[in-house]
Amino acid sequence: MQRKNSPTKKVYDAIIIGSGASGGMAAKELTEKGFEVLVLEAGPPIDPSRDFAMNKSSYESMYRGFGPPGWKQDEQWMQDTAGDFSRHFYVKDTEHPYTTDPGKPFLWVRARIVGGKTLHWGRLSWRFSDLDFKAATHDGFDADWPIEYKDIAPYYDKAEEWIGVSGNRDGLWWLPDGNFLPRWPSPAANRN
Ligand SMILES: Cc1cc2nc3c(=O)[nH]c(=O)nc-3n(C[C@H](O)[C@H](O)[C@H](O)COP(=O)(O)OP(=O)(O)OC[C@H]3O[C@@H](n4cnc5c(N)ncnc54)[C@H](O)[C@@H]3O)c2cc1C
Repeated sequence: MQRKNSPTKKVYDAIIIGSGASGGMAAKELTEKGFEVLVLEAGPPIDPSRDFAMNKSSYESMYRGFGPPGWKQDEQWMQDTAGDFSRHFYVKDTEHPYTTDPGKPFLWVRARIVGGKTLHWGRLSWRFSDLDFKAATHDGFDADWPIEYKDIAPYYDKAEEWIGVSGNRDGLWWLPDGNFLPRWPSPAANRN
């Protein structure tokens, strides 16, 4: 592949829009293979000591974790999972409005921050199954995905091995087992 680099103009092999789970993973895969990649991110970088307030106690918040009166309704009514300690990671609906079809409301949760919604996720690393990929066949809504679970299973294996996912092998076809590390003991087992 020929690169046309000059002091004023650099040509990248790939440009990735957004640094969330999808963009981040794409950047990792491409750069590891030697590609020159430019990641464009609309949100600000994070300063963990300033921005990660999720572990604060409610009493450390002026409004006990509820936020200033009216902020949710005034600014982020569609950002369903935005809370007082995380709302600075989400868009304001006043600045980023959207519409939905009549009778088909949809809460579109949008992060605007380096790392995207990986900063929010609840630590559950479930695999989709053919119940998800072929959901339309089951419930009649929308269209089936053009891929099946078996097409994507090797990529789940790879991602799980890389990030390290612990869990139990339960043998449920609708929630496929993964490439799991041993499950963590239940906190209840450590009591006494
Ligand atoms: C509260 C919460 C809990 C969750 N828990 C789980 C969980 O336990 N398990 C699970 O599997 N999933 C969970 N999810 C979902 C998971 O976090 C997301 O599906 C995943 O992170 C989405 O990744 P993404 O890269 O597709 O999008 P995003 O992470 O949203 O990334 C998009 C990125 O693009 C940027 N961007 C947007 N527009 C532009 C633009 N015009 N130019 C440049 N950059 C732009 C944004 O700032 C953002 O960084 C959770 C989500 C939330 C909100």
